[in-house]
Amino acid sequence: MADVPVPGEELTPDGGLRVDPSPALPAAVHDMLDRLWSAGHAAYVVGGSLRDTMLGRVPADWDLTTSALPEQTAALFPEAAYENAFGSVVVPSGDDAIGDVDITTMRSDHDYADFRRPHRVDFTDSIELDLARRDFTVNAIAWGGEAVGTRHLVDPHDGRDDLARQTLRAVGEPATRFGEDALRMLRAVRLAATLGFGIETAAFEAIREKADLVRHLSGERIAAEMRLLLAATDRTAGLRLLADTGLLEHAAPELAAQRGVPQNKVPGEDLWDHSVRSVGGAVADPPYLRLAALLHDLGKPSTMADGRFVGHESVGADMARALLDRWHWPTAERDLVVHLIRQHMFGYVPRWSDAAVRRFIVKVGPGALDDLFLLREADNVGSGLPPDAGRLTEFRSRVRRELDSGAALDLRSLAVDGSDLMTEFGWQPGPIVGTTLQRLLDRVIGDPTLNTRDRLLSVARSIVAADGRS
Ligand code: ATP
Ligand code: MG
Repeated sequence: MADVPVPGEELTPDGGLRVDPSPALPAAVHDMLDRLWSAGHAAYVVGGSLRDTMLGRVPADWDLTTSALPEQTAALFPEAAYENAFGSVVVPSGDDAIGDVDITTMRSDHDYADFRRPHRVDFTDSIELDLARRDFTVNAIAWGGEAVGTRHLVDPHDGRDDLARQTLRAVGEPATRFGEDALRMLRAVRLAATLGFGIETAAFEAIREKADLVRHLSGERIAAEMRLLLAATDRTAGLRLLADTGLLEHAAPELAAQRGVPQNKVPGEDLWDHSVRSVGGAVADPPYLRLAALLHDLGKPSTMADGRFVGHESVGADMARALLDRWHWPTAERDLVVHLIRQHMFGYVPRWSDAAVRRFIVKVGPGALDDLFLLREADNVGSGLPPDAGRLTEFRSRVRRELDSGAALDLRSLAVDGSDLMTEFGWQPGPIVGTTLQRLLDRVIGDPTLNTRDRLLSVARSIVAADGRS
């Protein structure tokens, strides 16, 4: 990582920006630029990678742009994968800290339709034209040059000034640019949260005007921005921006419905404030936890009656599933989030018996317990409480004790199995075997000392006898 800038490192005059990014570019990136230049092509570092380098941040990914056509680039980098659909050539850097580098032929966009991606792109050898199609001025700077000549910044839209002012300003007329591709509005909010930047007034107003166009975006594109927003340091500011711009209402109307729903939590704050604060209180790992925090009270607006929200956790779980399906969220994460939401209303009190603690473990599932406690911490913070409010620390240690005790919590740990029962009672395989085992487990969870072969067979005999009488 020696070549990769560390956030906050060495900042120079001109508003503290690194205006000569060259020394901070990784060796692998220099090598790729050199190879393109040597072959007679113009080549530049662009987009977020240059923006972040100038800010002294570690870029999320590296983007180069070149006058070489995709086939020419691919020929120069035999290790590359050429993705025809986007005209990008993806070159492995050979350095894990850097990953793949996207080398894209300079282009101008035309014929935007459906408020989404352009329908046609034309390759160009003008870096200015390529920069003009980019979304925000801070993303529309390039560093590099022609095959021969000086290496320099190309900044036709004064992105440097906006970097110094920490402002996101659209390239060109904002309403037009957002009308071309509605994703840019979500990117504005997400980049504001990631970079800690503000959105310039005209861009902000244009987002308010055009917010409804996000309805035309695919769920995947919305989801990708939401994922990045939730991972951001300034995620709570980002979520508030999402609501204040009107984007939330169109991207997730069920979340926007939380605005104005009263809560007895933080004085003067509503349910949406609670959700936002909960996201603020949620740790970064596991990555779906903040999503669970955002969505955990999704069921409240529709279950509100007499200031209570009976059953909101299961209504909310179903709504979260529908929302995440709309966003094409990966199903494994979706299921974890939905499960956490369904389980989030546990109300531990010290008088819970050990058996009650064990029943809770079985209901939630041992694998989900840590996440559920982390969600409760976030929920507590969202309610203006300390993270461990509600005797969470005590509850956690009681749960841990039960797990460590080795008490049987599933059928596999019972001292008898199905064939024992079939032998004992002369049964053929059938549902009665499973239901009897389940009832035995239930008894063992209540009293772990029953979990011996003899005692369980004796319990089974009394169950069978009682069933025979009824
Ligand atoms: P990140 O730090 O998350 O990677 P980024 O700005 O680099 O943010 P990328 O998706 O990597 O985002 O895109 C690279 C560059 O491509 C952007 O900086 C911008 O110049 C341009 N770009 C990306 N998406 C759009 C878009 N929807 N409209 C116009 N330009 C875009
Ligand atoms: Mg990027």
